[in-house]
Amino acid sequence: MPTITLDTLGTLGTFQDSAPYDYLIVGAGFAGSVLAERLAEGLGKRVLLVDRRDHIGGNAYDHLDEAGVLVHRYGPHIFHTNAQRIVDYLSRFTEWRPYEHRVLAQVDEHRVPIPINLTTLNTLFGLSMDEAQAEAFLAQRAEPVDPIRTSEDVVINQIGRELYETFFRGYTRKQWGLDPSQLDKSVTSRVPTRTNTDDRYFTDQFQMMPLHGYTRMFERMLDHPNIDVLLSTDFRTVRERIPHRELVYCGPIDEYFDHCFGRLPYRSLRFQHETIDQEQFQPVAVVNYPDEAVPYTRITEYKHLTGQQHPRTSVTYEFPCAEGDPYYPVPRAENAELYKRYKALADETPGVTFLGRLGTYKYYNMDQVIGQALALYQRIAEQEGVELKAHEVEPG
Ligand code: FAD
Ligand code: UDP
Repeated sequence: MPTITLDTLGTLGTFQDSAPYDYLIVGAGFAGSVLAERLAEGLGKRVLLVDRRDHIGGNAYDHLDEAGVLVHRYGPHIFHTNAQRIVDYLSRFTEWRPYEHRVLAQVDEHRVPIPINLTTLNTLFGLSMDEAQAEAFLAQRAEPVDPIRTSEDVVINQIGRELYETFFRGYTRKQWGLDPSQLDKSVTSRVPTRTNTDDRYFTDQFQMMPLHGYTRMFERMLDHPNIDVLLSTDFRTVRERIPHRELVYCGPIDEYFDHCFGRLPYRSLRFQHETIDQEQFQPVAVVNYPDEAVPYTRITEYKHLTGQQHPRTSVTYEFPCAEGDPYYPVPRAENAELYKRYKALADETPGVTFLGRLGTYKYYNMDQVIGQALALYQRIAEQEGVELKAHEVEPG
């Protein structure tokens, strides 16, 4: 991966009119890296990828910690998708380790599956229901809400107030600093309720982890003679010094426009990483703590995700907070309205395109961001009259 430094840039800055880069891409996460790879490999473009962090991979970055355990610096990242096309694309840069994610919730002295399933209900209520009985049990507790607007409505409508309070209210209030009634229904809708014994967190057709980690996959993606990578550099400090024809910006859209309409809210996290002198800490990769009195939301033990054998183990506690790196756009109507204003401004600003979770203020998973980057690539290729191969074209 050709990594350049600010010193090299000094020379580039003297090129004046003859822009050495076709694209300047801000943000070396999935959005920026996938687009850089496609533009370089597919269209022969010269790309400079800039990130203010000292590494590639964005929030999916993983690395060996001091103990030699492979950890995710920004919390657990599990790859899951229903899109064969996205699996095929990433498979050019990595082999895979099959992995199905399972999560337990700590409720009083019990550790029970979340999403709520038959085992959860039987354990918590000391029952031995079958699937049909569990369905009737939930139907009896559910409190119909119409229309369903918020993250509170959607859960209460499905499972009633008691289970809502046990599993969703406290966790959500901690995670977002807002009550579920103040958040769009899409947030808690991410977590279904089941009456069978399926205890997988996701039901996507493809669920797996990059065999040698995300960072290795990004390194292979960006290992192209047409791609230069400039790390530890904020775009704002170099934007005038880097001649380029087009800009793609994967940072927070409101920051790009100097917060001219006010700040878009993002939720942050403080990650507390620890290594423990024992082989295993907890039975599954993630244990959630829905109790509002516990200050963190979840603990992740990475060896379950990576399959790494090691005499010690490393874990991460997530403490949600308002200040810090922007990790989550906050889905609620007033924020969507504010984003719309930035989007309208973006649409009338020539030469720059916004992409990714921060650039388009969307609570996207990795596969959705990859899909978004591939779709942008497709549009650029079409504009240039380049015919893509069938597997490169988005269905529909
Ligand atoms: P990012 O990865 O955020 O990359 C943006 C990059 O832009 C950053 O590296 C940032 O440093 C850089 N940048 C911003 N502004 C500037 C600037 N001015 N100058 C230079 N650089 C700049 N998704 C899943 O599919 N499965 C999961 O299990 C999962 N778990 C998650 C857990 C957590 C705790 C979080 C926060 C997210 C999780 N996600 C998960 C979502 C996933 O992280 C995102 O979908 C994906 O990483 C978004 O990629 P991106 O490129 O849009 O943004
Ligand atoms: N959630 C909850 N309790 C849980 C798990 C999730 O209340 O045990 C809610 C919470 O609001 C959370 C949302 O559902 O933010 C989405 O959960 P997910 O695990 O998808 O969050 P992410 O992995 O994106 O942080």
